[in-house]
Formats: sequence, structure tokens, C-alpha cells
Amino acid sequence: MSDNNNTHDDDEYEKYCYLCRRPESSCGKFICLSNNIYICNDCMQKSLDSFNSNPMQFMDFSKMPNINMSEFMPFDDIPKSQKVKKKKAKEKKEEETPLTMENIPSPHKIKGMLDEYVIGQEYAKKAMSVAVYNHYKRVITNTMDDIEIEKSNMLMLGPTGCGKTYLVKTIAKLLNVPLAITDATTLTEAGYIGDDVESVLSKLLAVADNDVEKAERGIVFIDEIDKIAKKKETHSRDVSGEAVQQGLLKILEGAEVEVPVGSGSKNAMTPTTTMNTKNILFICGGAFPDIEDIIKRRLSKQASMGFNSELADKFEEDKNIIKEVTIEDLREFGMIPEFIGRLPVLFTLDPLDKDMYIQILKEPKNAILKQYQKLLALDEVDLKFDDSAYEEIAELAMERKTGARALRAIIEKFMMDIMYEIPRDDNIGSVTITGDYIKGKGSPLIELRGTSLI
Ligand code: ADP
Repeated sequence: MSDNNNTHDDDEYEKYCYLCRRPESSCGKFICLSNNIYICNDCMQKSLDSFNSNPMQFMDFSKMPNINMSEFMPFDDIPKSQKVKKKKAKEKKEEETPLTMENIPSPHKIKGMLDEYVIGQEYAKKAMSVAVYNHYKRVITNTMDDIEIEKSNMLMLGPTGCGKTYLVKTIAKLLNVPLAITDATTLTEAGYIGDDVESVLSKLLAVADNDVEKAERGIVFIDEIDKIAKKKETHSRDVSGEAVQQGLLKILEGAEVEVPVGSGSKNAMTPTTTMNTKNILFICGGAFPDIEDIIKRRLSKQASMGFNSELADKFEEDKNIIKEVTIEDLREFGMIPEFIGRLPVLFTLDPLDKDMYIQILKEPKNAILKQYQKLLALDEVDLKFDDSAYEEIAELAMERKTGARALRAIIEKFMMDIMYEIPRDDNIGSVTITGDYIKGKGSPLIELRGTSLI
């Protein structure tokens, strides 16, 4: 007696497309062929297209004698243990209001909102607020009669961990637009191992729940863009450098692009859709190591040609020389002119100093220390830090040279014991973290409820 009651019209179980293996819940109603074989609309269309374009009709099953399809496709008998239960329909997200001329925040408001989360980086926040505002004004009005407004794609330069990704994430959240973050190092020229440039759009599409219209108004952030600089002294084809820049040109400017759905590369089995990148905002970021030398060389050359040759020494000492970067320097670094030309908004971020580290610890709306304070407040314990603790954490973070990213790692290490021990004792009313405790020289100051420090 068979124990599997396979009724395939049973709506509780996922149906899979026989060709692309995607589930029905992600690609719409399937077409049911004989023997409970299901095909999604995309694959059906592709099959029809390929049959139409192939007059030989080489797969004419009707001419094959005694063919039993179910031998090839035993899909009518999948045991229950191999079926996947459909996910419950997602709770409906709160109604998203699209950006309009009435509700789009003006640059000073965007900057004000960024101020709540991002410390310092005043120039970058200002430049970004203006560029984003202009971009969405252009998208919303869509009136490009005689004066066509150009895209405000951006290029950000700044050391690692100074807030490049964080700025972009914050702005996308504030404006409620889909954001895809990719790493330029994963991209290669089409046909080589790695992701095709179109994969950045696939990601955006996935973030926008496969809603092409929504994705077409989103933001793409391409990090580590300096890694696709033209390789110097290479005799082979530069498939992950210059070729990637060339590949990106088309999508940066605005074009109809065939995008693989749910995959990083195109192949015969991946369904594709067409996306227009005209209204997608591209933001590229990178640390551009050693570009300072290129800038200094250029400035010194200019200075020594004029009367102010004494300036040349000044450049040598300027720690923030990256601010002087020009398109010429980027070209020298290995970015091709057409590529830089498509990123008209160029700005730099400042390296973090000690004060900024301390501010990052305590000031942003979702500052990491505030998060711990909130967690302990749920146990009715007051978590405090004295000034020496802030200083100590900031110094440790600076030593690691990975920017503000180091802060979380440091804090998590010493907070682990506290988060473990405190809930043990109901009498603890407050904990004060000191600089000595961070240095590993003592314990935190504990105050019991209704008593003084111990
Ligand atoms: P990168 O510049 O390398 O892209 P990120 O933006 O990813 O660095 O920064 C790493 C983390 O450090 C962020 O998630 C954020 O929490 C914190 N951070 C970095 N810079 C700032 C800043 N200026 N203000 C507030 N937090 C920051």
C-alpha cells in the first residue's frame, strides 16, 4: 500500500517549473502540462520563441515511437517528504508612498536626517543631499523637454570604515527606495568567471521584490570601485579592470538592459527581464589607496612651475590632501575618462579622528552603546560609561585602522561578560564601564539597587 497520498492539485505544496526550477510562489501561475509537469510563463515563452526560430523542429516527440514521457519526467510521484511547504504569505508591508514633488524632502531636510545617523562628513552629506534631491526631482517630473537634466551619479572617495556605505544605506532608508550594494571586485567581463555587470541590476530587482518599476527608481551602490582601475603592465586581457569599467558605461548612463532574474549571470536557463537604468542612481565608492601620491605629484608640479614653489612642501604634510582630487588624478589612477564622466558628482569623505570615534559611539540615533543601554534597560539595569572608557575604546579602534567598523568588534568583546553576568543578579541597579576595565585592569563599577557603588 502506498503511503504517499500525492494529490498534485493539493494547494498546500509548492509547484516547481520543470525547466528553471523556480517555485510558483515566486514567478506567478504555472501552465500545467500532462503528467503534472508545470512550466512557468517565462520558460514557456522562451520555448515557443526557440521553436519559432528553429525550423528544424528537432524535438518532435510525436514522431518518436513508443515514447513514454513519464519515464523522463517522473514528476507525478514526488514523495511528500521531498515537497516544500509554501511560505505563508508575507504580512503586507505598510503602504509605501512613492516620492512626489510634494513629499520629496529638500536638501537641507535630507542633510538634517543624515545628521541624526552619520557623524561628521559635512561636505559629503551636503553634496549627497543635493545630488539625491536633484536626481529624484528629475525622476518625478520626467519633463525633459528642451533642457535635459543629467543624471547625478556619484563617486565617493574615502578611507575604509569612514561611513561611505552607511551614508548610502541611510539615504535609501530615509527616501524609502530600494538599494542594492555590490562589490566591484566580484564583477568581470561577460563570459569570464565572476558576475556580469548586469548582476548589479539583478540584485536591485531582487531587493525590489522583482518589481521592475520600483527597481527602476532605486539606488545601486558599487563599493571598492578603485579595484577595477586599469591594470598597469598587464599583457593579458584586463577582464576584471578596464573591461568592467567599459561594461558599466552603458548601465550608468541609462539604457535598456536585459537582466537575469534571480542570478548573477545570464545563461540559457535563467529567465531575463528588461530594465531601463535611466532613473537608477548609481553611487560608486572606494578608498583609492595611494591616490594621495598622484595628487601630491600633480600639485607639486604645478607649484614648482609658478612662483609659489614653497607650497610643494606644504602638500607633503597635508593629511587631507585627498580633498584636492581631480578627474585628472583619477585618470592617472586607472579609471577611464568615459567612466568618470558618467559619475559627475565627485566628493571625498574625511578620515575619522578620535573625537569622531567617540561621537560615533554615543551620538547617532542607533549608536551602538545606546543599543546596549536599551537591552540592559529591559532588565532594569542602567548602563553607564565614564569618559575614560570612551577614550580607551576610541584609541583601540584607531589602532586597528579599519575605521568605525572596529568599534563594534571591540565593544562586543567586553560587553559579552557583562551581558552574561548581569541578568544573574536581580539586585544590580547600574553598571559603569571604566577605561581601566577596557584595558583589562579592573572590573566595572556595580551599584546595587538602593545602595551605593561597590
Ligand atoms: P565604508 O566607508 O568602508 O563603506 P561603512 O560605511 O561600512 O564604511 O562603515 C562601517 C560602520 O561604521 C557603519 O555601519 C557605521 O555603523 C559606522 N560608521 C562609519 N562611519 C560613520 C560615521 N561617520 N557616523 C556614524 N557611524 C559611522
